[in-house]
Amino acid sequence: MKRRVLITGAAGFLGSHLAETLLARGEEVVGMENFITGRVENIDHLFKSPRFTFIRQDVTNFMHVPGKLDAVLHFASPASPIDYAHFPIPTLKVGALGTHKALGLAKDKGAVFMLASTSETYGDPLVNPQPETYWGNVNPIGPRGVYDEAKRFAEAMTMAYHRYHGMQVRIVRIFNTYGPRMRGQDGRAVPNFITQALKGKPLTVYGDGSQTRSLCYVTDLVDGILRLLDSKVNSPVNIGNPHELTILQIAQTIKRLTRSKSHIVRKPLPTDDPKVRRPDITLAKKLLGWSPKVPLEKGLARTIEYFRKER
Ligand code: UDP
Repeated sequence: MKRRVLITGAAGFLGSHLAETLLARGEEVVGMENFITGRVENIDHLFKSPRFTFIRQDVTNFMHVPGKLDAVLHFASPASPIDYAHFPIPTLKVGALGTHKALGLAKDKGAVFMLASTSETYGDPLVNPQPETYWGNVNPIGPRGVYDEAKRFAEAMTMAYHRYHGMQVRIVRIFNTYGPRMRGQDGRAVPNFITQALKGKPLTVYGDGSQTRSLCYVTDLVDGILRLLDSKVNSPVNIGNPHELTILQIAQTIKRLTRSKSHIVRKPLPTDDPKVRRPDITLAKKLLGWSPKVPLEKGLARTIEYFRKER
C-alpha cells in the first residue's frame, strides 16, 4: 500500500525535495504552501504527476484535507536568519499555531506526524558536537528567538501529542543543509557566497569567520528524514553532516570552486550568531543506519551549477 503524505511548506527548499523523492518512490503527495518564502518554481515540475495535489493554504489557519493521510510532514517555516528577521510573527505562528493545526490534522487522520525541528533548538551551544540530550543555550528574546522558541515549543507540543494522545511522532533536528533550490537572496552563508562569487562581488564573511558550521547536502538530509519517518523513533534525532568547518574556510572553498576573483570582506557578526555547530549523529547511525555520503566539494559543485543556471 502506497502512502498519502501531506507536506506543509512543500514549495520550500526541503519541502520540494521531499515531495520529489516521495513521488519518485511511487507515493502520493499533497503539497501545502502559502508562498511566504516558498517558490512555485520549486514544485512546477511536480504538477505533471497524477499523484501530486496542491493546496494553497496558511497552516496557521484551520485546514481541511479531503481523503486519507498516512503521514503529515510539517516543514512550513521561514528558515534563514534573514527570513525570520523579515517575518518574525509568521515564524512564531507557523511554529506554534501551525504545529498545533498540523498535529490536530494528523491525529484526526490517524497519520504519523513529523516535525522539521532544528539545530537552533541548541542555540549558541556550550557543548560541541551537540547530542540530542543537550538542552541548549537559547536567548528567548534575541532576533533568533522567534525561530528557536517556536521550534522548541513545536517539539514540546509534538511530545505532548505523543504522550497524551499516543500519537506516532517523529522529530528531526535539521542541521545546516545546502543544495539546489535555495534562494540566492535567502541570506544564508552558502547561497550568499555562491551568488557573490559568481557575480564577482566581495564574499561577505561575518565577524572574523572563525565561527563553525557543518554542512549537509540536501539528498543526504532527505534520505535521513525518510529513514526517520519509516522508523519507530518518537524522540528527536539529529540529521546533519558532522564535517565541521569555519565560515572563512567555507567562503574560501566556494571562491576556489567557482574560480572567482572576488575578495573576501568582513562584515559585523549578527547578534547571537552561534559560535560552533556540529551534529552528534551517533543516534541516527545506530537507530536509522544513516550517515551522510556526499562530500562537501561534490555537493557544492552541484549547488554552484544550479546557481549558474538560475542567473
Ligand atoms: N554568514 C556569513 N556571511 C554571509 C552569511 C552568513 O559569514 O553572507 C555566517 C553567519 O554569520 C553564520 C554562518 O555564516 O555564522 C551561517 O549562517 P547562515 O545564515 O547560513 O545560517 P545559521 O547557521 O546561522 O542559521
